[in-house]
Amino acid sequence: MAEELSEGKSISDVLIVGGGTAGWMTAAALANVFSKTHCRIRLVESDQIGTVGVGEATIPVVLKFNQMLGIDEDDFLRSTQGTFKLGIQFVNWGSLGNRYIHPFGSYGTPMGSLSFYHYWLKYHREGKSRDIGEFSIAVQAALNGKFMRPANMPNSPLSQIAYAYHFDAGLYAQYLRSFSEKKGVERIEGEIVDVAIRPDDGFIESVNLKNGEKLSADLYIDCTGFRGLLIEQALNTGFIDWSHYLPCDRAVTVPSKNIGPPDSFTRATAHTAGWQWRIPLQHRTGNGHVYSSKYMRDEEAKDILLKNIEGDTLAEPKFIQFKTGMRQKFWNKNCVAIGLSSGFLEPLESTSIHLIQSSIAKLLALFPTADFVQPVIDKYNQIMCSEFIGVRDFIILHYKATDRSDSAFWNYCRHMDIPQNLADKIELYKSSGRLFRDNNELFDEISLIAVMHGQGIRAQRYHPMVDDINEIEFDRLMKEIKSVIDHSAQAMPRHGDFIAKHCAAKFV
Ligand code: FAD
Repeated sequence: MAEELSEGKSISDVLIVGGGTAGWMTAAALANVFSKTHCRIRLVESDQIGTVGVGEATIPVVLKFNQMLGIDEDDFLRSTQGTFKLGIQFVNWGSLGNRYIHPFGSYGTPMGSLSFYHYWLKYHREGKSRDIGEFSIAVQAALNGKFMRPANMPNSPLSQIAYAYHFDAGLYAQYLRSFSEKKGVERIEGEIVDVAIRPDDGFIESVNLKNGEKLSADLYIDCTGFRGLLIEQALNTGFIDWSHYLPCDRAVTVPSKNIGPPDSFTRATAHTAGWQWRIPLQHRTGNGHVYSSKYMRDEEAKDILLKNIEGDTLAEPKFIQFKTGMRQKFWNKNCVAIGLSSGFLEPLESTSIHLIQSSIAKLLALFPTADFVQPVIDKYNQIMCSEFIGVRDFIILHYKATDRSDSAFWNYCRHMDIPQNLADKIELYKSSGRLFRDNNELFDEISLIAVMHGQGIRAQRYHPMVDDINEIEFDRLMKEIKSVIDHSAQAMPRHGDFIAKHCAAKFV
């Protein structure tokens, strides 16, 4: 006997609340997959309130988001004053004077059944290489001011180039808004003053605007930023505070004039109670100093920022407060929080926009029916929780792996207890030179070795199978790999020239 399918009614009305990066990314993605007749998508935002105005560095998965939307890359970069990013340069993290790049893409070349880093660990122990970045096309290109897209040359390091973007956050939201509106998203301007809850089940019934208008939908996406207007203020979902592990809670930001062609990497320079970013765009450089208010006053943080900027500033410094952590639930009843409303880890590895993208992908995979069956909600919460934790642990590693003892802040970070999973990873690497990526975590062994070795953690052993290669052959191979990478990086165009040729924005 055929079983009867008990299908839930489809969601036919989605209201996205908030029009920052999270809101417009969500709107663009939903509008791209749902036809207007199947599901109405509206976005409400308030120009009076505005957006957080930061979030300009990304990681390579963002390319998939643009590809999914069918966005032309050159047009996108032209419209957002964008540049290319090959990784992040960390300065003064492991110790004062220490400098390394956490690159995108891989190291070396596949050798036998082991990842390249195992061979490099032996080479390093033999005193033949100080920095694994010598074997990364991204690092060598970044240090030489070069960039190109991956070439169709299967055996060349040029085929392995992986990259992300830097872009102007405001222009990015505008770009996605225009994309979304063309796909049928309705934008509503208005300030929400109240959220009505259904008395019987605690679901959101409507959001109510200052002008008296009531907006009702089946599904609400809370993209209201740190306020968490729906997920927290209306539904009291709760927040898990991670400031013990990630003690920075403020940023002061300021744009500056470019003093030369843009670098193809983000720079993160550690200071005495936090760190400073430098994000090169076509029309300006974005700068910000992220710090812990427990260890540094606002005025001092601002002075440090201004002292460490290369070009003239273009605006008054702006302060932003935040708390690191995540919501107890990302999806509660008929509300899904995406973006800063769902949690914030801090911008060190440029992961927030990725987490928005990932939330959208999971929401689409687990898109509910109008009866909101609980297992779907639970699965979403479980996946997003483990993603946040994976990213959190990787960021904590940067603070923990330090010899700095020049300030109370670094003394705290060096001695703080860390999540057991991260402590185990560090111990495994130290004792055996092995690195593993758990549960499909965002950051793999390439990222782990970049940061661990880059910040001074040393492996005492390497994989025994590495010794299977004949010593002379091993030496010859390593030298050849390095030489091919060096030559390939030299052959690449300059980053500024590449932009000028393919995606130069209008001068502003
Ligand atoms: P917001 O930009 O704050 O948008 C909130 C929206 O909600 C606005 O449109 C607002 O008008 C609307 N709203 C709020 N209340 C109401 C109301 N009552 N009525 C109507 N509308 C309302 N991420 C990265 O990936 N890379 C980075 O380099 C990076 N750097 C960062 C640096 C700092 C210092 C910080 C704090 C964050 C950084 N991020 C970064 C994170 C990134 O900025 C955010 O993930 C991204 O901008 C998304 O923000 P949002 O859309 O969630 O919130």
